[in-house]
Amino acid sequence: MPSGDVNGGRRGGGTTKKNAFCSFCRKSYRDVGPLVEGPGDVYICGECIELCQSILEQERRRRGTTKQLFTRVPTPREIVEQLDEYVIGQHRAKRVLAVAVHSHYKRLMLDSDGSDVEIDKSNILLVGPTGCGKTLLAQTLARILDVPFAIGDATTLTEAGYVGEDVENLLLKLLHAADFDIEAAQRGILYIDEIDKIGKTSQNVSITRDVSGEGVQQALLKMLEGTTANVPPQGGRKHPEQQYIQMDTSNILFICGGTFVGIEKIIGKRLGRRSIGFGQSEQPVHTEDDLSALLPSLTSDDLLEFGLIPELVGRLPVLTALTPLATGDLVRVLTEPRNALVKQYQKLFEMEDCELQFTDKALEAIAEKAKAKDTGARGLRAIVEEIMLDIMYDLPEQGPGGRYLITDGIVEGREALFPMPEPKHKSA
Ligand code: ADP
Repeated sequence: MPSGDVNGGRRGGGTTKKNAFCSFCRKSYRDVGPLVEGPGDVYICGECIELCQSILEQERRRRGTTKQLFTRVPTPREIVEQLDEYVIGQHRAKRVLAVAVHSHYKRLMLDSDGSDVEIDKSNILLVGPTGCGKTLLAQTLARILDVPFAIGDATTLTEAGYVGEDVENLLLKLLHAADFDIEAAQRGILYIDEIDKIGKTSQNVSITRDVSGEGVQQALLKMLEGTTANVPPQGGRKHPEQQYIQMDTSNILFICGGTFVGIEKIIGKRLGRRSIGFGQSEQPVHTEDDLSALLPSLTSDDLLEFGLIPELVGRLPVLTALTPLATGDLVRVLTEPRNALVKQYQKLFEMEDCELQFTDKALEAIAEKAKAKDTGARGLRAIVEEIMLDIMYDLPEQGPGGRYLITDGIVEGREALFPMPEPKHKSA
């Protein structure tokens, strides 16, 4: 007989013994709440039950579906075509990404075939200003390939003992995105933003945050290269008592992004120096358009000059630059993607049996406003929401049949909102 509390778990109830410990994670009743009791003084807590469930579920899926996961990887052309539905411009980046991602998933298929040829892993680095589509590209790729996707931020990573996150927490996000299906998570895409803030050296004057000591860098490098990481299922900092989920990172596709503020000066300097012999100006002049003109010439040497540590550059062999979005591109962002803001608002109006239109000039005025904010397409949503707020508030009470036209005057605050239709009151 177990020392047996009569409330013991075999009837589905938990033990109420205050001094009981979970036999799996060693946490006490006080820490983890009710425990289920088994024969012979054995207990299990809710967290460990969940973990066991996910392990079993994962095992079932591994046996049942792994082979079918990547029976066909879309071709680079197909990938670009699908990216075009969501991401405006960035043609070169799309091609580079499509080829890299296609090869990456082909490589996984090869792995599962037990082939003796190994294709190297190709993590990707996206360089470009804020709001030009770096995250969007990574996210859309994951959607196209139907793999789990998570976003992390390099600046939140800190050494153990400091306030912040362990590198393994990034993997936990991916695991969450995969509903704790480890097999799926191990083939997912992890986007790590602000990678340019890792390991900055004194060459850089624009140090804004002090992050990432040596330990973080090493952990990150290992993860990018491929390692078996111990992921704490509950997140937070690691501690010795915790149970870990082991995750192999060698098939995870890491896409890193960074703005690399000022990198165009490094590119310009390099190109300028080269061009002296051809009789061009010795002092390259940097204009506002430099970023667009110079970023496509970015090389890994420029990243080193910028201050990224060589080991990191080495683990991100696919390098591509995204250019800032011009006003015309921003107008397209507003109207063309499948989930374009204008389309979304028009749909909402349609649901109220109303019609919404933007004049071309209004769209340009919105784009200009966003351009002035210098946050790329990221600023568009807030601007449009601000314009639309009042009418969205009133719309459901306006009745069907209303037609609304947004003009540049409205966008710029010169005209009152919606002078055109008389508010129609609901006919009974
Ligand atoms: P970042 O380059 O800073 O990662 P994001 O990809 O997060 O920028 O872009 C922020 C938002 O701006 C996206 O969610 C998307 O709505 C819009 N956006 C940015 N770039 C593009 C683009 N090239 N095409 C379409 N939408 C874009």
